[in-house]
Amino acid sequence: MKTCTYCGRENEDQAATCQECGEEFGQNSASTEQTPTEPDETERFEKITVLDNEVQAELMDAVLSERKIPHIMQSYHDSALDGLFQAGKGWGVILAHESSKEEILAALADIRSQSQSSAGAPDDNDT
Ligand SMILES: [Zn+2]
Repeated sequence: MKTCTYCGRENEDQAATCQECGEEFGQNSASTEQTPTEPDETERFEKITVLDNEVQAELMDAVLSERKIPHIMQSYHDSALDGLFQAGKGWGVILAHESSKEEILAALADIRSQSQSSAGAPDDNDT
């Protein structure tokens, strides 16, 4: 197996590009194949978009998992990445590879259009 250095997905040895993110495999895969430490792929993730609420986050998580898009749901209530998300609007953010951004935004647009009834009035308790 060949592990993508970009997203961490395992691909066939003869694969020329990653099935997940399309990253081209160079000639230097041998040196990284047996990396003992888990690559911290989350460091490569970027903030893609802001989620309005937890329901939306759960729907997005399900959709992205189904589409096998690597992603992280980061709630504002989770301080693991404190400092990054001081805006505090909405529920939190989706972190993912920039290459997945368009697909994620499209999926989010779908979800928002399906849940219009609750999209109009998010909790507004910052008085
Ligand atoms: Zn990849």
